Amino acid sequence: MYNIAIDGPAGAGKSTIAKIVAKRLGYLYVDTGAMYRTLALACFRAGLSADRQEEIVKQCQSVNVSLGYDNGTQKVYLDGVDVSAQIRQEEIGNMTSSIAVYPQVRELMVDMQKRIAQENNVVMDGRDIGTVVLPNADLKIYLTASARTRAERRYKELVEKGQQCDIDAIEADIIERDYRDMHREVSPLKQADDAVLVDSSRMDISQVVEKIISFI
Ligand code: C5P
Repeated sequence: MYNIAIDGPAGAGKSTIAKIVAKRLGYLYVDTGAMYRTLALACFRAGLSADRQEEIVKQCQSVNVSLGYDNGTQKVYLDGVDVSAQIRQEEIGNMTSSIAVYPQVRELMVDMQKRIAQENNVVMDGRDIGTVVLPNADLKIYLTASARTRAERRYKELVEKGQQCDIDAIEADIIERDYRDMHREVSPLKQADDAVLVDSSRMDISQVVEKIISFI
């Protein structure tokens, strides 16, 4: 199997890029953030706050997360129900990075991700793919961009959806989430030694895609 790992901070464009690269190559796109988000949604719906580790772990162990594909687009299911839209709410994103610090939560997801990559050619994106999930991936990319650039992209996305938002608040959220992801004890976000660094601050989507394809 050929495995491509794409890691990087929130808003660097990982999912957009990974999706296109996967389509071009005919590989499966695996969005691991969506898997953690699904667990966070389950905890949120159960009324748990993120600091209650024991209950959070129990809740995550008791639900079923599965993936499906609709025309190359990944769908996530929580106990058999498609929750792909619900997991995108801002509050779920924040809750996700808070519960993703728990080792027992990560273990559940990492096992599932490893299994998928053993059985399929994949482009998998996340935070710990090149370092923990697929240490032997054939190609590892660390995709990043400045916090301001990432905030501007997110701001544009939300405005296009007709939502009111404040760019400075978005940037502050991004910085806070990066901090949590980079400083947690288990599987922090960091560039793997053998990953190629791609800074997309001054690149458009097609330039990043071509660059990654050129490494294969
Ligand atoms: O990629 P996305 O922004 O959807 O991920 C949401 C959160 O899930 C991240 O901020 C991070 O805390 C967590 N995550 C993780 N490991 C991954 C993917 C996502 O801890 N492989």
